[in-house]
Amino acid sequence: MSSLWHRLRRAGRRAREIHAARRAGGPPCGTCGFAGQLLHRDSLWPELIAAWELDERWAGWMNRREGSRCAWCGSSLRAGQLAAGIVEAANARAGTHARHLAELFRDPRARALSIAEINSAGNLHRYLRRCPGLRHSEYGSRDPAVPSEDLGQLSYPDGSFDLAVTSDVLEHVPDLDQALRETRRILRPGGCHVFSVPMVEDRPTRQRARLEGGTIRHLLPPSHHGAPTTGSDDFLVFWELGGDFPDRVRAAGFDLELRRDPHNPAVQTFLAWKRV
Ligand SMILES: [Zn+2]
Repeated sequence: MSSLWHRLRRAGRRAREIHAARRAGGPPCGTCGFAGQLLHRDSLWPELIAAWELDERWAGWMNRREGSRCAWCGSSLRAGQLAAGIVEAANARAGTHARHLAELFRDPRARALSIAEINSAGNLHRYLRRCPGLRHSEYGSRDPAVPSEDLGQLSYPDGSFDLAVTSDVLEHVPDLDQALRETRRILRPGGCHVFSVPMVEDRPTRQRARLEGGTIRHLLPPSHHGAPTTGSDDFLVFWELGGDFPDRVRAAGFDLELRRDPHNPAVQTFLAWKRV
């Protein structure tokens, strides 16, 4: 009885939040198309901000990147922009005209795409899995239904995908250039690696750790993403990416287009095309 009461109260609160967000207005969400003000809850914690040496402005931008969410589908500012990037690349590849991810796979031409979701793109997965040609994996997967893929050495054959998607994962990969070469390798000519990474554009890339003979050597005190309390090594930061990173993507052979948020320089989506 009380749990039903709580569920009803929660549903009522959610309906009021959605209504208020819609009234306040905002640009449409790239994931679900809902147009409304984002809800915000802080996503960064003091130790991470200190290790990353973010100033107040960048801490605010990074906080909103992950902590500001669509009232309807829950996509963060970052995930919504990543979804829009996936839709843009898929439309170009399939000749479709979807406006957001939730409607993309209604079109059979989009359902014919072959997509590698190399790590779960947060709440985008529930839409991506509507594509029959989706191959979903995780790094070090513990779920027997989800295969494990290592970005340094993907198991997929050359030229097998129209799109590859990674979501805030390249900063955790020991060999960044090798990972970019690998996603390019598995794409068909004309395919696109769509991804997000946290990048502080007004400073250079800094390497925090490296792999030496299978052992992690810390160049700076270990910093982790993910929940601050767990501090799992799975989320160890190898790279703090800076303004030189786009050139590294180009050096891996990609033709790069960057999609930016006009109000938040921490929010960027990379469309890395394999032209030939
Ligand atoms: Zn949404």
